[in-house]
Amino acid sequence: METLIDLHTHSLHSDGTLAPAELVARAAVRNVRVLALTDHDTTAGLNEARAACAAAGIGFVTGVEVTAGWRGQELHVVGLDVDPQSPALQAHLAAIVALRRARVAAIRVKLLRYKKLADADSALLELESHPVPTRTHVARALAQAGLAESVQDAFDRYLGRGCQGYVAQEWPPLAEAIAAIRAAGGQAVLAHPHRYRLSGGALRNLCAEFRDSGGAALETSLPALSPNDAARLASLAREHQLAGSAGSDFHEPGQPWRPLGRFAKLAEGVEPLLPRLRVTGHE
Ligand code: AMP
Ligand code: MN
Ligand code: MN
Ligand code: MN
Repeated sequence: METLIDLHTHSLHSDGTLAPAELVARAAVRNVRVLALTDHDTTAGLNEARAACAAAGIGFVTGVEVTAGWRGQELHVVGLDVDPQSPALQAHLAAIVALRRARVAAIRVKLLRYKKLADADSALLELESHPVPTRTHVARALAQAGLAESVQDAFDRYLGRGCQGYVAQEWPPLAEAIAAIRAAGGQAVLAHPHRYRLSGGALRNLCAEFRDSGGAALETSLPALSPNDAARLASLAREHQLAGSAGSDFHEPGQPWRPLGRFAKLAEGVEPLLPRLRVTGHE
């Protein structure tokens, strides 16, 4: 049986829905043998995930998905094999969480202009003290109050770019995200590079700058990647001497398009990042 690895997953400590131990149980059933938990801007779930992986005989890699900015664009940098005790990393994450809370408060003010959204107000107010509030939480609150048909509908009507409830956010720069990950002994991975709204040339510049700032790898293998995008990402990695990482970006069981551990192997000529990572609790 092929060894499945998944180096990009979320739990309820950010915008996933499963507790870390539930995520690990699901990974075990699906035959994942090495798992990283990479919640947005928090390491709060890592202890529980590590213990659950050890109990299940699954290899565990510490992780975090750091929100960053580059030329006005929001980027995600996955830090793998990070030491969660690192003061530099925790200070960096605390600054991002403060921005997230302020952003949710600003979104709430904008949404209050819709009288009919008053029913979601207490849920939105609670999000301002959530450990890591994301727009997905806002969308869930709107859907749960019956004010949107679904999370997607809430984005389409209220939260997406160009909508009334959209609040632009500037995040700490890419180079600082990489530096914080490296200060914690980790490897920085540019997450889902094909999802950014960047031209081919801008994406090349981003990869060059990512590498020059100390980045180690690109995510080149993810679920539902088109053959064209897979080829583009593999050649970007080779061209910029970046290793390749692989992960599902799993958030919740209700999203079958990003299943745990299910994606193509790394392309030929792309050096795997995994051998550079410390895997604990494995054999
Ligand atoms: P945040 O980091 O708070 O901006 O929240 C970003 C999350 O919201 C992403 O991880 C996506 O899952 C989700 N998201 C962003 N834009 C959309 C959209 N237009 N439709 C659906 N989900 C979205
Ligand atoms: Mn997310
Ligand atoms: Mn992401
Ligand atoms: Mn993610």
